[in-house]
Amino acid sequence: MFKVGFIGLGIMGKPMSKNLLKAGYALTVFDLNQAAVEEVVACGAASAANGAAVAAQSDVVITMVPNSPHVKAAVMGPGGVLEGAKPGLILVDMSSIAPLASQEIAKACAEKGVLMIDAPVSGGEPKAIDGTLSIMVGGDKAVFDQVYDMLMVMGASAVHCGDVGAGNTTKLANQVIVALNIAAVSEAFMLAKKAGVDPEKVFDAIKGGLAGSTVMNAKVPMILEGNFKPGFKIDLHIKDLNNALETGHGVGSPLPLTAQVMEMLQTLHADGCGQDDHSGIAKYYAKITGETIGK
Ligand code: NAD
Repeated sequence: MFKVGFIGLGIMGKPMSKNLLKAGYALTVFDLNQAAVEEVVACGAASAANGAAVAAQSDVVITMVPNSPHVKAAVMGPGGVLEGAKPGLILVDMSSIAPLASQEIAKACAEKGVLMIDAPVSGGEPKAIDGTLSIMVGGDKAVFDQVYDMLMVMGASAVHCGDVGAGNTTKLANQVIVALNIAAVSEAFMLAKKAGVDPEKVFDAIKGGLAGSTVMNAKVPMILEGNFKPGFKIDLHIKDLNNALETGHGVGSPLPLTAQVMEMLQTLHADGCGQDDHSGIAKYYAKITGETIGK
């Protein structure tokens, strides 16, 4: 069994690292937030002073931090993974970042003999806790094969999508679909509410039909409850749509619907809701109608 290092113990990293411990992996962890480190250490992990010290103890290092600059800092920065890594170490970046940044980081890794794959996830905190995430991977297929069993401790599926960056390109497609879905659901449920039909009844009536979706099942109950505790923060979804728009513009694939939903998210961010769950897109519709869908 690999000795595993885990950097980034936030909403996602904490339950993912705990599942690796439960599966019997020896784990060394690091986060800038000491309280998060202590919580995972209490479950059986060792802690290290920085990314370099994590790497020195590990065969495989997983990073699960917010965005491209955070991964670069954790891997390529002072005290980062590459300072402590032995040649042959495998870096699995599970953060959702820009595909071009994944390629840049993989290049810096290769110069030190470190093998890097990008392996972002979908499913959110509940599936991170259950170990049933969907994992989308870019990089050398032989490296993917080596870490497949470890990934399947955290996920229900792990699919090799192509070269380095392909995992994050797949994740951007996922994030476009999720954001647009939440906006569509919010718009439609507000229509029903304003027209005098109980949104709970609408949910019961349509969730099993063609409009039903994983997004609807996960997010409509939160919207009806008026519970916008994250989950997945609006500010993180802004980060993903930024990466999607930049990537789309770079490859000549316009994203008109994504641009529209991005402005809804920006409105919510400006209104102090950036730390809300992304189901808080419903609040945008509350803002423009003066009505709430749920409580
Ligand atoms: P989070 O903000 O809860 O946690 C991020 C953690 O990274 C924090 O504990 C922070 O202290 C740590 N960190 C940041 N920079 C660091 C560094 N240089 N060194 C060490 N630690 C560092 O974020 P999250 O919700 O866990 O998301 C992590 C990644 O997973 C993001 O890319 C996000 O887009 C993606 N993701 C999140 C969800 C979700 O539902 N929350 C779902 C799928 C994917």
